[in-house]
Amino acid sequence: MPDNKLRFAPSPTGDLHIGNARTLILNYVYSKSISGELILRIDDTDKDRSEERFYRSIIKDIEWLKILPSAIERQSSKTEKYMEIRDYLIKEGHLYPCFETDEELNRRRKVSLSSGLPPIYDRASLKLTKDEIRAYEANGIKPYWRFKLDRKSITWNDLIRGEQTIECNSFSDPVLIRADGTFLYTLPSVVDDIDMGVTHVLRGEDHVSNTATQIQLFKILGSNIPNFGHHSLMVQKDGSRMSKRIGSMSLNDIRDSGIEPMTLINYCARIGTSDSVEAFQSIDELVNNFSLAKISRSPARFSFEELMGLNKKIIQKLSFQTLDARLSDLDINGKDAEIFWDTVKTNINTINEAQKWWNIIKNNKINIDATDINRDFLKIAQEALPNAPWDDKTWSIWTENISQKTGLKGKELFLPLRLALTGENSGPELATFILLLGRELVLNRLNI
Ligand code: GLU
Repeated sequence: MPDNKLRFAPSPTGDLHIGNARTLILNYVYSKSISGELILRIDDTDKDRSEERFYRSIIKDIEWLKILPSAIERQSSKTEKYMEIRDYLIKEGHLYPCFETDEELNRRRKVSLSSGLPPIYDRASLKLTKDEIRAYEANGIKPYWRFKLDRKSITWNDLIRGEQTIECNSFSDPVLIRADGTFLYTLPSVVDDIDMGVTHVLRGEDHVSNTATQIQLFKILGSNIPNFGHHSLMVQKDGSRMSKRIGSMSLNDIRDSGIEPMTLINYCARIGTSDSVEAFQSIDELVNNFSLAKISRSPARFSFEELMGLNKKIIQKLSFQTLDARLSDLDINGKDAEIFWDTVKTNINTINEAQKWWNIIKNNKINIDATDINRDFLKIAQEALPNAPWDDKTWSIWTENISQKTGLKGKELFLPLRLALTGENSGPELATFILLLGRELVLNRLNI
């Protein structure tokens, strides 16, 4: 049995967005579920569009997610290997030089379409004689290279989509090498998958027809064919396409909005599957409850609200001990910090939001919209305030006392107190919150 190996292969032509994150996370969780390893492969053969800053941003993202690949490969450092394979494919007649311009190809495409034919490249360049090729080159025109597809059907058992058949006479011979000699994605990907011993390729369904071409290349190069799985793409929650402007969030944006890595991992492993999204606390737990077979063929609907809702559940389960340093970074420390965390954690969506509540406790003054609070009520509340020392019964003794004096109950009793003490009309359990405020601050705040 070969060792299981997967790879995540982003192009450093932009920041990773939520759709890339899902591919990464599915690869990660699936690799764990089959005790495999995950390699990060940077597909940077497109020199014009690949940038170092995007490479760094990919590394930052995977480190943030704590997804540590077993190796990092960059295609830009492997050009010689690709050239070797290119020469072999040319020698064996699998690649042929082409000289048509884009305009010429467009024109021919239109002619085909208007005569009711599929707009497939007619292999005109394959018929060029040696002299004709030489004549182009003498005029300084460099060829680009197409792969001569075997025009048969290619079938594979997709890990997600089940049996897939692609008719290779239904699309044009793909261009594998540009006129400037640089490689498009298809060939280097196969060369690397063979070189790295990749056993499973898990990627978006926009690659399904590439897979047919790549399977032909694997065979020509005498290699085993990896298991392929193609997941559906992500759409916005209303079903419309993810677009840069609206839904297509970068991992940077997601991190900045206070989403925890574990939230994103849980979310991406479960959306677009027949399982519901759950707040697993550990990767192992998630992996034990993961199956590729549950990924649906319909698009995964991304909802930021759902992601934030999951974040809330995740942080509620975080203990003070695991968070100590992060809370300290927010200046939340000292003897009250632990009880503070336990009090506010059910009322916040992100860890950063804890800071607001900490300031409410630590600042002498808070902004209160006091227009709706009845001063007589506050006066009674002041008089009824139990003396120190306070404990966890103080709140009920106090509010019971105010209730007897005013006849108020429920919301009418609690809301004005909450507003006066915190400046907010919802928030953490007041019974503990007043202990954090202390008697003096409570008295001050009732004195509007
Ligand atoms: N660089 C390709 C992409 O980002 C990789 C596809 C693959 O996984 O083979 O779409």
